[in-house]
Order: sequence, then structure tokens, then C-alpha cells
Amino acid sequence: MDGKIYRLPEAVINQIAAGEVVENPASIVKELIENSLDAGATSIRVEIVSGGQQLIRIEDDGCGMGREDAVLSLERHATSKIRAVEDLSTLMTMGFRGEALAAIAAVSQFELKTKGEGEAVRVVASGGQLVTVEPCARNRGTTIEVRSLFFNVPARKKFQKSPSTNGTQVARVMETIALAHPEVAFSLVSAGKQVFEVEPADWKKRIEAFLEPHLHELEFEKGGIRVWGTVAAPLKAGATRSGQYLFINRRPIFSPLIARAVKEGFGTRIGEHAYPPFVLFLEMPSTLVDVNVHPQKKEVRFQEDAAMFQCVQEAVGSLFVSIPSFAEPLAFTPPPLSFAFAEQVLARRSTEQFQEVPLPIVFSERVVTVFGPYLLLEKEGLFCVDLRAAHARILFETLSQKKRVAEPLLWPLEVAVEGAEEETVHALSEMGIECRVVGRKRLAIDALPSFLDAASFAQFFSGWKEGKQLKMVTLEYCQGLKKRYSLTEAHGLWRRLQECEDRTYDPLGRPIWSEVKESDFAGIIRGGK
Ligand code: ADP
Ligand code: MG
Repeated sequence: MDGKIYRLPEAVINQIAAGEVVENPASIVKELIENSLDAGATSIRVEIVSGGQQLIRIEDDGCGMGREDAVLSLERHATSKIRAVEDLSTLMTMGFRGEALAAIAAVSQFELKTKGEGEAVRVVASGGQLVTVEPCARNRGTTIEVRSLFFNVPARKKFQKSPSTNGTQVARVMETIALAHPEVAFSLVSAGKQVFEVEPADWKKRIEAFLEPHLHELEFEKGGIRVWGTVAAPLKAGATRSGQYLFINRRPIFSPLIARAVKEGFGTRIGEHAYPPFVLFLEMPSTLVDVNVHPQKKEVRFQEDAAMFQCVQEAVGSLFVSIPSFAEPLAFTPPPLSFAFAEQVLARRSTEQFQEVPLPIVFSERVVTVFGPYLLLEKEGLFCVDLRAAHARILFETLSQKKRVAEPLLWPLEVAVEGAEEETVHALSEMGIECRVVGRKRLAIDALPSFLDAASFAQFFSGWKEGKQLKMVTLEYCQGLKKRYSLTEAHGLWRRLQECEDRTYDPLGRPIWSEVKESDFAGIIRGGK
């Protein structure tokens, strides 16, 4: 019973193989763009109709092909990119299998127009069968048209998604590639409408062209691995990975390991189930990574997972090192006593008795302790300093005088304004608050003078917006902080207060500190005045 086995015709082999490379219009667009990039194109234009099912046209200004190569390129395992297995380890191109064009041509009405060194040539194929090879007119570069996708594979055609879904996927694939190749111009037209068009740019501009701003830049290098890109503010962390773009040696890669490392880099700044958006580029010698595991699955194998993880975590973590440390965690925990004592002392601030204290005192004082928002100092007597009042004085002088140093924020703050954006920016800059308009009724704050804390800036800003006087705004803001100060903070405030023009009164003219008398203690212990 011989004759059961027979060799499949080439066209059938190609159709079967096509299933692997050519799933949908997006995967075709990806292959074709990669070919254009491999050909050194500086401009790649894609047009699709019906999400690509009716037509995918891609035009590039790359090196093109001669007549012979153009015909050969449609054959399976025909490639100009490798000659021998050894070439794989030093591969610089995106493709190398020589499968894509054959697979695409096998399931479509295919037309290739190309011009390299010699004459331009037009090659037409239908379902993988060569139909025409003829001279044509074209500038250097290549144009490929793929029509009636899957016309000869009804089963596959039936399972295609809707044109709009396919169109979205094509756009997403193109955007991703465009992010990794900022030096190349890309354009996508779908159903006659321009979806996007980007000019050659640097990587920062290219990211801005596609993604929301408020991202932060990162450039890092360690052990032969270069990491650069942008990471969103912790607040922007989303519930899915959809905002995460990773490229290794310019290829889009999906790597749970790297995604996890980025998250770890954020430390406890984001929740367990939050995913920080990022666009990260990793560049490393090909000895450290194998990206050719499978052409469709965007997986990689690292030579050393742990080293890679640590490098990325450190790169992201380095972003946070320069956060202004005014809001540092408590270095000193006050004993669990009530604040009644200090409150009582300061309640006397407006009394006659207080006014008699000789002012100003030159302090070469000893810090006794920090007690909630109060600092106790000893210097020929005991003094109680209201740190919030001191804070308000410092802030008031910093904002109202021209001497100020704004500290850049790691993450710009976004605030809403009721219009008059430019005027607001001007008024804020007068106080040394660096900001800019980012949209209608929206400002981004880039740098704040010290003693104005990013975390509580909103409170300050809402008071200021209401048009209150600066002295009221600073006082209310500092009172509203209601925080306990650490020893370091208290000491910092006290030292800075000594540089103020007025070291004695808060912006409303109430004393910042007062001497504590022996009789105060007696009063506290006996439960009265
Ligand atoms: P691979 O990219 O793996 O080599 P393909 O089937 O995608 O295989 O392409 C086959 C060959 O056709 C490539 O090796 C290249 O020489 C040539 N080619 C394909 N597209 C282009 C293009 N846009 N410009 C110039 N040459 C191309
Ligand atoms: Mg290819």
C-alpha cells in the first residue's frame, strides 16, 4: 500500500508555514517594517484599508533590491542577512529567517516594487505563485502591497478580527517600533485618514509624540548595560501593564523579570498591584542576551537574570535618591505625653509677661528635645519654640523676598487653575515657584523653594488661589501641616530661622518662641495656673 506519502507542493508548505509568521495584519506590518529598517530606511509610510484585510501598503526609502533578489525574496528561506549559523550570534538585523515575504505572499495578492542599484522591478504574485516580473518606475526604495489577505485560506479569513480592531493593532505595533527608532520617520494612514505621522527626532521627543507627558527621564549605566528612557510618576501607576514599553537592543520585548525590577525600583511608592508606566531601552552586548528565541513571541533569555534584575532596579531606584528630604521620616519619636505643656507655654505668647523677654536672644543653645511641633532649647533658661510658627516665618520670607533657591521636584506636580494660566505662572514664579502651563487650566510645578513641601503643596496652593495674603497663606499652611518634626527637621528650621530678617515673630506678628519659667512647671504639676 505505497503511495500514501507524497511531498507537499511548495505553495502548500508556504501556506502552512505562513500561519506562524502571519497571524493578522499587525504581524504583517511588523515584518514588513522590520525589513524596511533592515534595509536602512529613513522614512517608512504605511497605509491600510479595512484594518489591513483589503490592503496593506508599505513604502520605504531603503536600499531596495535588484531584479534577481526581488524574485528570490519571495522564496522561503531566502535571506540576505545570514549565510551561516555562526552569523546568528553577531546578528544586527531584525529578520534573518527569510520567511516573512514568502509567508505573506502565500496568503495574499502580493505586489513588490523595488529599486536598488539597477533598474526598478515589479514583481506580482497571487497566493504565492509568481505572476509577473517586469521593469517599472520607482525611486530608490521598496513598496510592497498586500491585498485580499487570506483570500485563499477561508478558515483563517473567517477568524480575523473586525477592521477596527485590526487597525488599532496595526497602529499599536507601529507606535512600538517607532518608539525604538526615533531617527526614522513613520506615517500611518488608515482608510484614507492619517493616524499619525512622526518626523525623525531624538528618543525623548519621540516618546512625547506618542505618550502622555509627566514622565521622568532616566539614564544609567552599569556593567556594560545601558538603561535609558522615561518612567511615570508613582501616582500614575495603573492596574494593567498596558503603559509599559520595554526594548532590548531596540527590539520590543515582553519581560516579566524586567517589569518586576522596575516595580521594585519604585520601592514602596506604589502598591502591590499597581503597574508603573514606562518606556525603557536596554542596550547590552549580545553575549548577555538572546533575543532570537522566537520571532513572534517577544521573549528573551538573559545570561544572568539576577544581574539584569538588579541593574534595572537600581536604575529606577536612582531616580528617587534626589528627592528633597525635608519630609524625611521621623528620626526621633517623642515620648507619648500630651502636648499640654508646650501649648500652655505658648498660650502666654501674647501676654504682657512675654513681651518683657529681651529680644533677640543670641542662641548658642542646646537642643533639649523635640516635642511634637515644639522644640525645647536650653540657654540660660529653657525656651519653647513653636516650629510651625518658625516654619511659617521662614516660608514667608523665602516666598516674599527675592532670595530663594527652588529645588527641582523629581515628579512635577499638576495643579488646576481657574483660567488665566499665564498670569498664574507669572505670579508663582515671582515667589520662586517654577512652573509652566501644560494644558487648559492646568499647570505643572517643576521646582519649589525649600520649606514648601511637594506632598502638601496642594494645601498651600488652594489658600493662595483664594487670593489670601501671603502671610495668612503661609501661616495656615504651616499650621495645617500638623506634623511632628524630627530632631533633624527641628534643628534645620531653627538654624534657618536665624537667617531670617525677623527671627522672633511669625508672619502675623505673634511670637515664635517663649521662655519657659519654673512656675510653668509648678502649674502643670498641680493642674492649674
Ligand atoms: P528576512 O528579513 O528574515 O531576511 P524576509 O522574507 O522578511 O526575510 O525578507 C527576505 C529578503 O528580502 C531580505 O533578507 C532582504 O534581502 C529582502 N527585503 C525584504 N524587504 C526589503 C525591503 N523593504 N528593502 C530591501 N530589501 C528587502
Ligand atoms: Mg524580514
